[in-house]
Amino acid sequence: MNADRNFLCIRCREAGHQTADCQQLKPVRGRDGNQIFDPFSDEHVLATFPSDSSSLCERCVKYKILDVFDQDDILHVDSQSTNNRRPRRLQPDIGRLSSVVLRSNCPLCRLIFRVLPHVVAGHDEGDPILYLTPFPSYERHPSFVNKTPENDKKKYSVYFSVQSQARELEISSKYLADPSGMIGNRHYLAFALSSKTPASRKTALGARLTGPSVDYALLRRWLERCRTSHGKTCQRPWAPELLSTRMIDVSARQVVPCPDRCDYVALSYVWGNVGPKKGDLENRQLPQTIEDAITVTAQLGIQYLWVSQILCYSSWSLSVLQVDALCIDQIPTRQQRQQLDIMDVIYHCSTVTVVAISGESSASGLPGVSMKTPRVPQGTEIIAGKQLLTIFPMLEQDIEGVKYSTRAWTMQEGMLTRCRLLFTKHQVHWCCNSAIFSECIDETADPGNYTECYQPESQVTWFDNVNYPVPSHH
Ligand SMILES: [Zn+2]
Ligand SMILES: [Zn+2]
Ligand SMILES: [Zn+2]
Repeated sequence: MNADRNFLCIRCREAGHQTADCQQLKPVRGRDGNQIFDPFSDEHVLATFPSDSSSLCERCVKYKILDVFDQDDILHVDSQSTNNRRPRRLQPDIGRLSSVVLRSNCPLCRLIFRVLPHVVAGHDEGDPILYLTPFPSYERHPSFVNKTPENDKKKYSVYFSVQSQARELEISSKYLADPSGMIGNRHYLAFALSSKTPASRKTALGARLTGPSVDYALLRRWLERCRTSHGKTCQRPWAPELLSTRMIDVSARQVVPCPDRCDYVALSYVWGNVGPKKGDLENRQLPQTIEDAITVTAQLGIQYLWVSQILCYSSWSLSVLQVDALCIDQIPTRQQRQQLDIMDVIYHCSTVTVVAISGESSASGLPGVSMKTPRVPQGTEIIAGKQLLTIFPMLEQDIEGVKYSTRAWTMQEGMLTRCRLLFTKHQVHWCCNSAIFSECIDETADPGNYTECYQPESQVTWFDNVNYPVPSHH
């Protein structure tokens, strides 16, 4: 094997040799496995090899990629029907899956490496030719329908993904890990120009650079936009039963009776086997997810937080947390029972519900809040002075297959609520009855209002409608 550090192998996801020379296949945790497949988990491989922004490889230089970002005709329009818009494939092709040549110092090769789906073990048929394929950003979501005037469409930024030909995609999907479950979905893994690129003609829904920490100012802007411009569908109701519950006052770090008509955050998460102990609230030693939710609540400028593990399963005395009451098999007291009965009201009326999508237990933390739970870094490369960024999975793909969505109870919580902040290991998504925003997609320019075109009844389709489970058996 040639020990040339200039090659990136897509089979074992390591650098140092060409894919054609590789015998090893990195084990991929697919949809059926217990673990979560992460297409962006190989960032550390690239981090050890310097990228040279001036050294596009021989193939990549031919794509003239910076020109394509500004082109209007990035889709083929079929002469038979104007509705039949097909993606264009840039020439030359990237090569066959078995022998793709990617170079660790070429910034475009590095981006292709990131968005090329992992190869799954056990494949023995087909070896499709792969192409670099541009498509408009609004085509990434099926509900971004084509009702925008053509002139506005031209303002949407261009995304790139790696694809094979349609027929070949059927074959390749058998051995390319496809965590979204959508066969041949070319919109899943992509990269784009940063929306901050000067003099760029197409900035709508461009790529936004995320950092290791959550951008709280952005979260506050989403909340404000929802409050001021989404009207009745996003307005949260108030229910008198709420006065019978308690809240954590996040500035005083105390459990207090719920004030009348207060704004509050509700936390929705997978408990696991980890629970809070007496004194944890006062001593700032609550399980990490709850500590992080306290931070997020304060950063949103909201004073109260509701957490089921503390406020349902602890004894009914103010400011005292009882560890014995956390036992799941215990028969709830009448007052606890009453609290469990109004849980749906609590989620329904919350100002915003913080959803821990990627956590396995309440010790997991919210990624990007405390440094104890780091986020998967975003891929970034510079080509001729322009910044290119990978775009993280959409909300639907983030939800697919994680522990959170396999728990009927947590899904129910997510469904009941009107405004949610969903914390994944990549980024934070906002999802209310009117809009879906994501940290890595710049929604500030969106002439077709694609991020805010959701119908109230359609936005929760990815949460199955399930019966409310019996509280003592979850
Ligand atoms: Zn290899
Ligand atoms: Zn290259
Ligand atoms: Zn809203």
